[in-house]
Amino acid sequence: MSQEPDVTAIDEQPRKVKTNLLGLSASRIGDFLESLGEKRFRGTQVLKWIHQLGVDDITQMTNLSKGLRESLAEVAEVLLPEVVSCQDSVDGTRKWLIRVDGGSCIEMVYIPERDRGTLCVSSQIGCALDCSFCATGKQGFARDLTTAEIIGQLWIAAKSFDQFDPKTPRRVTNVVMMGMGEPLMNFDNVVDAMSLMMDDNAYGLSKRRVTLSTAGVVPELDKLGDVSDVSLAISLHAPNDELRNQLVPINRKYPLADFIASARRYLDKMPDNRRKVTVEYTLMDRVNDRDEHAKELSALLRDLPCKINLIPFNPFPGSEYKKVTKVALTRFRDILHNDGYTVTVRTTRGDDIAAACGQLAGEVNDRTKRQQRYKKRLEEEQVVKFVG
Ligand code: SF4
Repeated sequence: MSQEPDVTAIDEQPRKVKTNLLGLSASRIGDFLESLGEKRFRGTQVLKWIHQLGVDDITQMTNLSKGLRESLAEVAEVLLPEVVSCQDSVDGTRKWLIRVDGGSCIEMVYIPERDRGTLCVSSQIGCALDCSFCATGKQGFARDLTTAEIIGQLWIAAKSFDQFDPKTPRRVTNVVMMGMGEPLMNFDNVVDAMSLMMDDNAYGLSKRRVTLSTAGVVPELDKLGDVSDVSLAISLHAPNDELRNQLVPINRKYPLADFIASARRYLDKMPDNRRKVTVEYTLMDRVNDRDEHAKELSALLRDLPCKINLIPFNPFPGSEYKKVTKVALTRFRDILHNDGYTVTVRTTRGDDIAAACGQLAGEVNDRTKRQQRYKKRLEEEQVVKFVG
């Protein structure tokens, strides 16, 4: 009697897990190659293929011998997150929805300006910090992104702008770690990804063009200055602890004075003493936009070399705050300006595709139940509106 092959058993064979080279530095690719009996200097060649030439197929890395390409492709791969959609705003802003391993989706935004193009990169799926004015916080939290998933965002943007072709002008000139998530809560992966961004054999961005923004995870910020010298932005949003405790709950653990002292220590570790911290302050109507708030902020920042970036709040479905009025925004800016601060006002970009600051939501397989509670509240509010 002939036996039919057991097709089910073949189908169910687990996929051989290969090492993803996308998130590895030249030295770590070198270690990996050495473990295969190859020369470690080839790590730099592989790095250049991936991040300078945009090649994600090992068999096309033609300055490696055919034998090495074949044996490497057996055990390694360049695995990118999947682009689910890409939307363009009327103002040139582009937003990607990107699926990462596990099924959740993150968002990434590109903002073109006259003299530069900034890519706003996510570091986590959702965010555990739950700032009260932030759409990401309302999605809850799933997990940290891997180094490959973080640097993969820059790769995807570079590919989408044909930037791997040396003849194409560089569209992404700056990266800000200001997308979904608190970057310092994913310290190692974010630091590794930023190192790749700045590596001359990869994207070669200068330290002034890579910015990490934090809501104030003080111990990690103290560690950051020992391993990195990227530009720093601090998300304050309130000039005193009482108000900041409500808006940015991590303030209860690390109050303003500690946060600002830590930012100061970060600057002190930089060899270049002309560097400044960017202070991010989202202005919400009648919450943190009064004259006394501006004066308090001015006093608070007196000893910190900084520039201040005012961000008019961008409402999102169910948000409890309103956008600052033009009058309040101008008064706030003028008070700080008259006190000698450099103040910029962030223009709202990508509003029509929900890509503006604080609006990124993605699709988070939430582990915190926060998303569930938030959706329930939105539904209840809809019912009240309908009945009312
Ligand atoms: S503002 Fe930043 S830190 Fe706060 S919840 Fe949103 S993503 Fe997290």
